[in-house]
Amino acid sequence: MVQQDIASYIYQISGQNPFLCMQCGTCTASCTGREAMDFPPRTVMRMLQMGNLAVLDLKSIWVCSTCLICTARCPRGIDIARLMEALRVINLRRGREVLVAEKIPPELLLKVPQMALTSGFRKLSA
Ligand code: SF4
Ligand code: SF4
Repeated sequence: MVQQDIASYIYQISGQNPFLCMQCGTCTASCTGREAMDFPPRTVMRMLQMGNLAVLDLKSIWVCSTCLICTARCPRGIDIARLMEALRVINLRRGREVLVAEKIPPELLLKVPQMALTSGFRKLSA
């Protein structure tokens, strides 16, 4: 993937155009996961506009809980949650999953609710 293609790749997957973002920061101000992220959603959008592939390595894209608040409030009508999902999909298609079944400690499996595991695998595994 060449740098300038990341935004169009995102558009192909999600239908969302990062270049519509005017960097107002409403998404960042609203984000429920902001404190656990390395960079806020506004910066994610800017990195996409700049073709910065480091965006694929951000913790933020995995922290995003798809709460949809940013999507509801974006004045440019960008579905940021869907765009975050596209970033996760790109990683998963490249085999960069963050939850690998074989690596989960057995003692943890006994403690974690099955629904949490199912949700985790849907989001974090290929
Ligand atoms: S709310 Fe929308 S326009 Fe504003 S910074 Fe976030 S993505 Fe960009
Ligand atoms: S959908 Fe993700 S990026 Fe948007 S407000 Fe919720 S946690 Fe933050």
